[in-house]
Amino acid sequence: MNMREQLQKLAELSQIEAQIKLIEGELERVPADAQKAQDGADNIKGELDGLERTHLDAESERRRLEGDLQMERGNLRKWQARLDNIRDEREHSALLSEMGTQKRGIRALENKILDAMENLEALAGDIAKLRPDYEKALEEAQGLWGEVDGELSDLRSEKNVRVEARDARIELLAPAVVARYRRIAERRQTGVTIIKDETCQSCFRSIPPQLVLQVYRGEIMEGCPSCQRIMIHESFIEADETPAQESIEDEGANAAAAPA
Ligand SMILES: [Zn+2]
Repeated sequence: MNMREQLQKLAELSQIEAQIKLIEGELERVPADAQKAQDGADNIKGELDGLERTHLDAESERRRLEGDLQMERGNLRKWQARLDNIRDEREHSALLSEMGTQKRGIRALENKILDAMENLEALAGDIAKLRPDYEKALEEAQGLWGEVDGELSDLRSEKNVRVEARDARIELLAPAVVARYRRIAERRQTGVTIIKDETCQSCFRSIPPQLVLQVYRGEIMEGCPSCQRIMIHESFIEADETPAQESIEDEGANAAAAPA
């Protein structure tokens, strides 16, 4: 590829990358409302899941307490049976006292179970109250996604077309040229600038006529003396049927044609 062709490919690369940036902006802007609604629904879902986990934990704690209670009641029944067979007075009263302790333990367990059941009921109430909120929020989010789905998939395929076009340009250009372009683009948004009427169209400084002539002839790959962007003469863009247009079509391309 001669110098002129390389400069043309660079100009196309820059134009395509500007278009990609625009599409990426749209890809963020278009689903913003749906994403916000989705985040809201996800938050409620997180809260709901947390309540349900707490409810499960509380339920297994209640079952554990019920198990303990059954066991303690069983023990008490055994002791009661033993008590009926004890004739010795001291042994009898010692067992009675132990059974008193046992009964207090059972009452304490019964109270705990009542508390646990109240807690479970309150949690179930909270869950029942929150679930319709979640369903409503989810429905709203799904509706909003539905409104933008088509547009999003169009944008994604538009982006894919341009990404392929970009990669094709990069493959054609020498790696050193691409690297230089990238270094400038990193600092200055765009790596190339159009020279029109002896003026850099990015920084609007005048370019010395001799330099403009060389740029016009496509003899050099030089940075603008002021902004360092690689200079490309406007005639390169206007004179040729830009191959980028083949894959990009006219829609949207016009808006992005001017380098930023
Ligand atoms: Zn400049």
